[in-house]
Amino acid sequence: MKIAAVFINQLNSNMDHSFDYFIPSHLDYIDIGVRIVVPFGIKNKSIDGLVVEIKEKSEFKGLKTIEGVICNYPKLSMWQVEMCFWMQKNYHCYFMEAVSCYIPSNMKYKKVKIDNKIEYLLNNSEQKIKYYKLSGKYSLKEDYLNTTRPNALMQRQVLSCLNDIPTSLEDLKGLTNCTGGTLKSLIEKGLIEECSKVNIRNPYKEKEYSYPENNLNYYQQKSLDAFVEAMEPSTFLIHGVTGSGKTEVFLRLIEETIKKDKGCLYLVPEISLTSQVIERIMGRFKQDIGIIHSKLNAGERIDQWNNIKSKNYNIVLGARSAIFAPMDNIGLIIMDEEHENTYKSSNRPRYNTVGIAKKLQEMHGCHIVLGSATPSVTSYYNAIHNDIHLLELPNRVNDIPMPKIEIVNMKDELYAGNRTVISRALFEGIENNIKSGEQTILFLNKRGYSSFVFCRNCGFVVRCSNCDISMTYHHSSREMLCHYCSHKSMVPSICPKCKSNKIKHTGSGTQKLELQLHKYFPQAKILRMDTDSMQKKGAYDSAIHKFSSGQADILLGTQMVTKGFDFQNVTLVGVILADSTLNIPDFKASERTFQLITQVAGRAGRGTKLGNVVVQTYEPNHYSITLSKNHDYNSFYEKEISYRKMMNYPPFSDIIYIGFTNENEEVVSKDCHKYYNSLLKCLQDNNLHELVKEMFNPTLSPVKKINNRFRWYFIIKTVHIKLYNEIIYNLNLNKDISDISSTKIIDINPNTIL
Ligand code: ADP
Ligand code: ZN
Ligand code: ZN
Repeated sequence: MKIAAVFINQLNSNMDHSFDYFIPSHLDYIDIGVRIVVPFGIKNKSIDGLVVEIKEKSEFKGLKTIEGVICNYPKLSMWQVEMCFWMQKNYHCYFMEAVSCYIPSNMKYKKVKIDNKIEYLLNNSEQKIKYYKLSGKYSLKEDYLNTTRPNALMQRQVLSCLNDIPTSLEDLKGLTNCTGGTLKSLIEKGLIEECSKVNIRNPYKEKEYSYPENNLNYYQQKSLDAFVEAMEPSTFLIHGVTGSGKTEVFLRLIEETIKKDKGCLYLVPEISLTSQVIERIMGRFKQDIGIIHSKLNAGERIDQWNNIKSKNYNIVLGARSAIFAPMDNIGLIIMDEEHENTYKSSNRPRYNTVGIAKKLQEMHGCHIVLGSATPSVTSYYNAIHNDIHLLELPNRVNDIPMPKIEIVNMKDELYAGNRTVISRALFEGIENNIKSGEQTILFLNKRGYSSFVFCRNCGFVVRCSNCDISMTYHHSSREMLCHYCSHKSMVPSICPKCKSNKIKHTGSGTQKLELQLHKYFPQAKILRMDTDSMQKKGAYDSAIHKFSSGQADILLGTQMVTKGFDFQNVTLVGVILADSTLNIPDFKASERTFQLITQVAGRAGRGTKLGNVVVQTYEPNHYSITLSKNHDYNSFYEKEISYRKMMNYPPFSDIIYIGFTNENEEVVSKDCHKYYNSLLKCLQDNNLHELVKEMFNPTLSPVKKINNRFRWYFIIKTVHIKLYNEIIYNLNLNKDISDISSTKIIDINPNTIL
C-alpha cells in the first residue's frame, strides 16, 4: 500500500509536522493537496488533514489508514503546498495556518453514505443563503425614507444598510432587527430585490462599465516598453506622482499578460479601493474578474476559488489576501500603493505580501510591478541598488499641475486668537469651495470624538482596564471605547482620582470634527469615512458613490480618504494635524508622515482646476513636512536613507520581533527570558557570535497590557535573516522551550511594536 504524509488540522506546535498513513486501495487517487479524514490519537478520533507527500515507505511502524476524502474540498496545487511549507519556515506559523490562507480550514464536513460507500462532504459548499439588495430605483428609497411613518423602523433600517451589492440575510439580521415580514413588504413595494446566486458571485456583473484606452504619454510608453522587453521574470517599481496615470500603465501590462494566456493578480491596499479599480478593469476588458478580500465568507471564497481554478477569471483583484488566489499560471502581480503597511499582515500568519509575491515569482516565473507616488524607502533603495527596475512617471497626465501646498503653523493660529482646529487659511478655502460648488477632502488621523479624557486638576487619564491604553470618547454613543480591545465604559463626570469635576475630553477625532464642521459650515453636506462609519457591508462603495456624484461638499476621514481615489471635482485638501503620525514611537514615523501628506495632497486638483492643500502642524520645520511641500520625494528619500543607515534600520537590517503574552505578569516575563536565553545558548553553541551581537534584551512592551494580557518582547536587528529564520524554526521544535505557556508572537519586520 502507498503511504501519504498528512498534516493534521490542529494548530499546535506538537503537531506541526506530518504523520504517515496508508492509502487504502479504493482511494488510490489520493494525491498531494487533497483534503482527507484520518483517525488520530489513542481514541482514533476522526480528524481532517492535508496530504503533502506520497511515498512508498515509512520509517514508522503500525501506520493507520486514511478513512476518506472530503470530496468537494478544493485541492491545493503542488506549488501551493510548497508555499505553505515556505511560510511555515519564514513567518513561523503553523503549516495549517498557511493552508488556511488559501482555503478556509474551519469548514465543517459531514459523513454521508452514498451507494453503501462512506463519503465526506463539506456542509455548506452549496450555499442556500438568501441575498438582498436595493432595486434599481434609488430615488424611490429616498422618497420612502422621507415620507414614510417614522415607526416603520425596521423597514427604514433595512433600506439604510442596503445598496446595490447583495447582502446576505445573515448579515442583514446582524445589522438590523428585520424579520421575514419586513423584507417581504419592501420587496412588494419594489424597493429591494431578493437575488440569485449568480449575483452573489459577482455583484458587478450586471453593470456596464466603460473605460476607454488613453493614448500613452512618453513616460507611460517607456514603462510599457521596459515591461514588454523584459526577458526574464522581473520586478519593477513604478514611481509615478499622484495623477501620473499609473493605473493606465497597469491596465496595459495586464493586456500584455493575458495576450500570453497568463493570469494577473492586481492588489490594492484596502477593500475601499477595489470598486474604482473594478470599474476600470471591467470597463476596459469587458469580462468578469475574480474578487478576493477578507470580508468574503467561506462559501463566497470557495466560489471564487472554483472560478479562478477553472480559469473563468484571468484577472483577480483584491486586498492583501488576494495574493493567495489559486491561479495556476500567474504572469503578473501588481501591487498598487506598494508602500502601504496593510500589505503586511499583523495577524497570524504574519506574512508580508511582497515576500509572498517574490516566492510566487520564483515558482511561476511571473513579473512583479510595484506602484506608488511615495515608494517605501526599502523598495526605492532596492530599485537604486539591487534587482528592482525603476520606472519613473514624473508628471501628471495632460500637463495638469501638481497641487499647491501651504504649510500652516498652528502656533501662529493660537497667537492670532484662533482656538479652533481649523486654521484661517483652511477655513477660507472650505468656505470658497462650498460657494463655488467644488469639493474638499479633510484628513484627520484619529477616529472618535477626541483622543482622550483627562483631568485638568490632577492629570488623570481614563485608561482601558484591559489594555493599559487611553480610551477614546465616541460622541454618537456617548461612551468611551478602547481601540485595542473594543471595551466600552461610561464617561466619568467626576475625576476618580482627585474627585474634581475638571475632567474633560481634549484633542480632536473625526466624530468631533464632523460636529464642529456642521457648526462652522451649516450649509455644507458632510460625509465621514472612518472605521466607525464604515462598519456595514457596502458602506465604502456607497460613500464613494455619493462623493463622486457630488452629493457631498466635504469628505472627512481617517487614512481611508488619503489614497487612490480619483475624484475630479476635489480642489482642496486639508490635513488637520500632520504631527499625529510624526510623534508615534516608530522608526518609520517620518516616512509615514511624508507618505500620508503626499498621498492625500494628491487627491486635489486632478481635474481641470488647480488643487490647493493646507497642511496644519505644530512642527513646520520637520523634513517630512517641508519636503512634502515641493513634492520632493528624492530629497526626502536621501534624508531618510541616511538616517536609516546611521541607525542600521531597514533596508540595512531586518527586525525580528519575538513577543510573549500572558494573563500573569510574572509568567510572561519568565517565559520571554527563557526563550531569549535558549536562543542565546543556541547561537553560542553553534559559534554564531556575530548573530549574538544583534539581539536586544527582553523588555516590557510599550503597551504593557492588551486585553488583560501582559506583554514582554525582545527584538533582533539583523543582517542574517535567513540564518535566524532557520535557527528560530528549529528552536521552536526544541523540547527545552516546551514548558513556555505564554502565547508567542514572532513577527518579521512588524508594522509597529505594541
Ligand atoms: P495615478 O494612479 O497615477 O494617481 P490615474 O491612473 O488614476 O493616476 O490617472 C489619473 C487620470 O488620468 C485618470 O482619470 C486617467 O483616466 C487619466 N489618464 C491616464 N493616462 C492618461 C493619458 N495618457 N492621457 C490622458 N489621460 C490619462
Ligand atoms: Zn483628577
Ligand atoms: Zn482595551
